[in-house]
Amino acid sequence: MRLMILVILDKGNLGIIGVAQEVMEATGLTINALLLGNHEGINLGDYGVSKVYAINGSGLIDPAPLARFITNNFNDAKYIIMPDNKVYRTLSGYLSGLMNIPVIINPTDFKPPSFKVNAVGNRAIMELEVQRPVIIVAQAARFKPKQYSQGNKAMVTNVSVEPGSLKLINVEGKSISNVRIEEADIIVAVGRGFKSKDDLKLAIDLAEALGAQLGCSRPLAADLKWLSEEHWVGLSGHRVKPRLYIAVGISGQPQHLAGMMESGVVVVINIDKNAPFFKYCDYGVVEDLYRLLPALTRKIKERRR
Ligand SMILES: Cc1cc2nc3c(=O)[nH]c(=O)nc-3n(C[C@H](O)[C@H](O)[C@H](O)COP(=O)(O)OP(=O)(O)OC[C@H]3O[C@@H](n4cnc5c(N)ncnc54)[C@H](O)[C@@H]3O)c2cc1C
Repeated sequence: MRLMILVILDKGNLGIIGVAQEVMEATGLTINALLLGNHEGINLGDYGVSKVYAINGSGLIDPAPLARFITNNFNDAKYIIMPDNKVYRTLSGYLSGLMNIPVIINPTDFKPPSFKVNAVGNRAIMELEVQRPVIIVAQAARFKPKQYSQGNKAMVTNVSVEPGSLKLINVEGKSISNVRIEEADIIVAVGRGFKSKDDLKLAIDLAEALGAQLGCSRPLAADLKWLSEEHWVGLSGHRVKPRLYIAVGISGQPQHLAGMMESGVVVVINIDKNAPFFKYCDYGVVEDLYRLLPALTRKIKERRR
């Protein structure tokens, strides 16, 4: 049997093709894609995908029948690759059970059969080896698929999956935040060092001057609700990888560090010289944020004029 890479995705997660490409380049296996939902205007052939199986309809509302479909039809998949979000993670669990194969979540390095994964709150790297088929769940937004050629059509087959027991009744639109912190180039992240929600204006001004997105520690989003969850960085929040991460009034607990350790340059501003974050930064400023931020923003604006 000829083995292949199966990438499972929808229109909002095209970045995941970048992971499949890395595995393809390392193994020489071909990529097939299982495309969920509306796929108009997507030509995966340009990205090195040979065959596309398109499922129209709600797809991931109930992952159980989809997992059965994949198990029954793609037992030649050596690598099953999918984006990291709640629904795909659920699908990966079903598939792992049905196919009796392991799952690797968020590898940082792909050299099949070896994969590296951050561990111990990002303070260690585990190297895993897997010779058998494996499911890889990765953050699509971190990858930029290469366009190998243009107009290279993938063979598209429409397929259908038996309906699940969950029925979609209605979808109501809600206002969507335009914060995509995982994709930010520069982040100014705020923590409990700020005494009130209004004081965040100091960080917002700095972020605007730098063209940065605003991030935060968990208490500001989860407990105080000063910012929405889209801004939350950390183990239970978003994992980010900006070029520049400026942490203001954040102590640097492992759960926060877990979300930002892959940042490029890290600057920490904290009034307490013993704050743990100072051990994990490139530049540390021991200063009261209320004194420093207005001066810093003013300087940056002057330089940019
Ligand atoms: C299961 C679990 C998951 C978690 N997941 C996350 C997560 O995803 N992300 C996350 O962030 N946390 C997470 N946490 C919480 C984490 O453990 C910390 O409680 C949290 O990160 C602390 O937030 P903080 O640094 O803003 O607040 P604090 O720890 O209270 O730190 C505030 C800092 O501000 C400094 N400061 C005070 N005043 C000033 C001033 N005027 N100028 C400058 N600095 C000042 C202080 O010196 C202090 O270092 C998790 C915890 C658990 C148990």
